Amino acid sequence: MTQSEPGARPGHCPLCGGGGGETHLPLPEYRYRTCRSCRLYYLDPVPAPASLVRLYADPRYFCGAGGGYDDYDADAEAAIPEYDRRLAYLATHVTGRRLLDVGCAHGQFALRARQAGWQVDAIETSPSARRRAERLLASRVSATVRGLPAKARYDAVTAWEVVEHVTDPIGFVASLATRLRPGGVVAVSTPNGGHRDARLHPDRFPEFQAPLHLFLFTAPSLASLLARAGLLPASVQFTSPEAPMPEALWHAVQRVRGIPLLGSAVGAVRRAVWLSASATRSFVQRRESYCLGLEAVARRTGGA
Ligand SMILES: [Zn+2]
Repeated sequence: MTQSEPGARPGHCPLCGGGGGETHLPLPEYRYRTCRSCRLYYLDPVPAPASLVRLYADPRYFCGAGGGYDDYDADAEAAIPEYDRRLAYLATHVTGRRLLDVGCAHGQFALRARQAGWQVDAIETSPSARRRAERLLASRVSATVRGLPAKARYDAVTAWEVVEHVTDPIGFVASLATRLRPGGVVAVSTPNGGHRDARLHPDRFPEFQAPLHLFLFTAPSLASLLARAGLLPASVQFTSPEAPMPEALWHAVQRVRGIPLLGSAVGAVRRAVWLSASATRSFVQRRESYCLGLEAVARRTGGA
């Protein structure tokens, strides 16, 4: 996690400045509004910065409390193939191998990048997570961008699942851009606000997480964010396209998977269900409507 300074005008879209955002999802203490101009979902009111600092400073955010992760380390272990895919994605955009990972949590992506040959620095604002990352990486992890050595510049700055949490996403991305070498890229990921359930079934769409997710970006609004931060968007793609298994079927699978022969048969059926559902969705629906994630790369142009 990381946190930037607030910069939005109350009552206006924090991205494009448009007023009159329509209430989309009323919640007990908050509501999500949607901007008719840029399609951004944004939380109203913005939580007090001090409350957000406390929220993310709580070590339990990463292990089962505060609405964060049930078990961040288990998720990170399972995400290694995803880390490798992201590193390969980055390598198609830059030739240099200096990388800054912002919001590094316990440092697993930064470590994987280093193992893949990148020279890596990391940033994490949560003190407890930062200490964990420093132990894993056996190197200093900064609390803020400003805390980095003044002359440190990078070919790639990554911020995975961060921009939806910061109060001033334009200022945040712009601060990352100051650390790019000419031609370097900022890469971000965030939940896909263009998912059909965000629009049609917001009460059950899992990414409306107040007060954690201050924004949900669609592909156009994410590209707009990067451009407004002074970068040239190079790629926006939808991720996590696998069709989710129906919940009742998932529970049934968990009950019988421990039975050897039956478990094998269920595994085959499960793969078949996934494949057929994925194929159907790929043909019938646009990726924007069912992918859960967005990733974008934007480049710094010009400058010395
Ligand atoms: Zn807007």
